[in-house]
Amino acid sequence: MLRVDAPQTLAEFLPGAAAITVLTGAGISTDSGIPDFRGPRGVWTKDPSAEAMSTIDAYVAVQEVRRRAWRSRRDSPVWDAEPNAAHAALVELERAGRLRALITQNIDGLHQRAGSSDGKVIEIHGTMREVVCLSCDLRTPMPEILARVDAGEDDPPCAECGGVQKSATISFGQALDQDVLDAAITAARSCDLFLAAGTSLTVQPAAGLCLEAADHGARLVIINAEETPYDELADAVLRRPVGETLPRLVRIALGTGG
Ligand SMILES: [Zn+2]
Repeated sequence: MLRVDAPQTLAEFLPGAAAITVLTGAGISTDSGIPDFRGPRGVWTKDPSAEAMSTIDAYVAVQEVRRRAWRSRRDSPVWDAEPNAAHAALVELERAGRLRALITQNIDGLHQRAGSSDGKVIEIHGTMREVVCLSCDLRTPMPEILARVDAGEDDPPCAECGGVQKSATISFGQALDQDVLDAAITAARSCDLFLAAGTSLTVQPAAGLCLEAADHGARLVIINAEETPYDELADAVLRRPVGETLPRLVRIALGTGG
């Protein structure tokens, strides 16, 4: 039942959706100046070696990989990025009591910066805003560790145990946090509308959340510039920029204009 750009369909069921679970991907943050790693102009597309260097095995084994990673974290566009209109729209949806959960594949923390509650945001790929020790699990705010990098430590060890530290994100070859994943699956199964925005839906298990939602009776709406493998399953597909389309859908849902 593929309906590309189906305003009538959206007007039929968006206003009645009471428990909306949203899944966001890189496409929601590109308007904030954060490049999409997998998109046509993405970092990995331009430099394939960057992807090979981002496996957990390489990170643990090779200090030069860790030095590069710390330089790249320090220079990340995330620190100067501001949330955009799409992030803000999801804050409105939460404040109206209509947001079941906000699952994100992003590690930039922009949903919380925009005002989304920690209790609503499920970061399935972790967050860049914290550092974790791979030996003792100590967590430290990223700015504290980046201050050490700026002061000359090119691979800052854990202050407690001396272990290797990394951003609290899921690297290639690293398992997702089971509790976080369980929370995401529960949120997908217990919504009446599942809205995927700015994600190509090609990375599992995030993409499979669409199936979980549909199998449990939710409507499925997809906003993404390119096709996704779940378009055929969706009630509506909007191949438009997330930055203007997501706020428009939230306005329709909340009855504040379309
Ligand atoms: Zn430690």
